[in-house]
Amino acid sequence: MSLASKHVAVVGAGPVGCAAAVTLVEAGVRVTLYEAATVLPRELRASTFHPATLELLHRFGIVDELIARGLVAPRFAYRDRRRGQVASFALDTVRDLTRYPFRLQCEQFKLCDIVLEKLANNERFAVQFDSPVSGAVDHGDHAELRFEDGTAADFDAVIGADGAASNIRKSLGLSFDGMTYEDRYVIVSTPFELADHLPDLAYVNYIADPDEWLVLLRTVDLWRAMFPVGADESDDEALTDDACERRLQGVVAKPERYDIAHRTIYRVHQRVTDTFRVGRVLLAGDAAHINNPLGGMGMNGGVHDAVLLGGGLAAMLDGSVPDERLDHYADLRRRLAIEFVRRHTHQNAVSLSAPDPEARQQALEGLEARAADPDEARAFVVQASMLSALVEMRDELTEIGHWPEGTTL
Ligand SMILES: Cc1cc2nc3c(=O)[nH]c(=O)nc-3n(C[C@H](O)[C@H](O)[C@H](O)COP(=O)(O)OP(=O)(O)OC[C@H]3O[C@@H](n4cnc5c(N)ncnc54)[C@H](O)[C@@H]3O)c2cc1C
Repeated sequence: MSLASKHVAVVGAGPVGCAAAVTLVEAGVRVTLYEAATVLPRELRASTFHPATLELLHRFGIVDELIARGLVAPRFAYRDRRRGQVASFALDTVRDLTRYPFRLQCEQFKLCDIVLEKLANNERFAVQFDSPVSGAVDHGDHAELRFEDGTAADFDAVIGADGAASNIRKSLGLSFDGMTYEDRYVIVSTPFELADHLPDLAYVNYIADPDEWLVLLRTVDLWRAMFPVGADESDDEALTDDACERRLQGVVAKPERYDIAHRTIYRVHQRVTDTFRVGRVLLAGDAAHINNPLGGMGMNGGVHDAVLLGGGLAAMLDGSVPDERLDHYADLRRRLAIEFVRRHTHQNAVSLSAPDPEARQQALEGLEARAADPDEARAFVVQASMLSALVEMRDELTEIGHWPEGTTL
């Protein structure tokens, strides 16, 4: 049977579901993408694409458009809130390893827009909005998808990319063990040009401070400032005009009030599910793992899942890799979620927010020393840009023909 006769359901039109859909369709599989919302969600959430992710998306011919809609960040920096810039890491240092030696500052919904535009007229692809899914059941040689309206449909496989509260994961009876950080994070976005007032400001800045650390990220139109919120402040209090104003005035004091374009608050976790595969049902992205956003590895790691699991699934469905290899892909992605994404994002959180001033100072001095040593700086960039995570998948990506030609890792 040809691959075009295989039909896979992808649940969730977030960045991970969209990346899984384009991976499968380009491999020759028929895909229906089910989304609970009535239109593509356009919340401001993740906004950084790492070089490794751009490399993985390169083969689908969508990266130029993503770059056109985003902002190229040639470096990222660590700062001390009082002293200014402490360490700056230029991504140019890995230009021999990747054709994308930069971080792309681009809202995650733009990837979804671009994928849906690309697949719009593809006869192997369909998207169904307003279709909340309640769960999935593995039947060995196929999977059943169940909808909240009580209907069900059979597919050759189902990919659950339905986010952190995943109904697919819950319906499989899988746990989501891990921890929740004490602080919540509030993100306040403003069009005010902070770079005119803070010397050496990069488009991506991690800023340590004994009283209140923060992250400053540039998107095309806005500066996004992310701050911790302690237990003594409720979500509603942290989102008031006055609280947002007070936090931004602490970054750059100015006589007029800030124009606040967007605000959101969320709880931060490190959680990974038991397995990313139950027979013909697979999990990817936030449905399978969630982590601290410091370092921007959650959405990126999810897109990496999508490309590897989608490609591995297509290869399994056409018989070019045996069924048990799909277990191997799923195990590899779970291992990387724990050993790479969880470890690095937690470390990023510790270096910014350690309550002990000496520990924080030590972390900053360590970063300063790394940035000053070209070999150390390059090694740091290879890891922070997730190129080292890509290398871990080299054999598996090569097996399904997805190793990005042009990367010389
Ligand atoms: C408020 C917030 C702010 C964030 N900010 C940042 C940030 O600044 N930096 C960062 O790196 N990361 C951030 N993250 C994390 C990042 O957004 C996620 O890692 C990323 O969205 C994961 O993509 P995904 O496709 O797996 O899941 P999602 O983007 O959550 O997409 C899941 C999709 O599935 C749909 N869906 C859900 N349930 C169902 C169902 N039952 N049936 C059908 N469809 C369903 C949803 O509507 C959604 O479209 C943030 C997360 C949140 C919640």
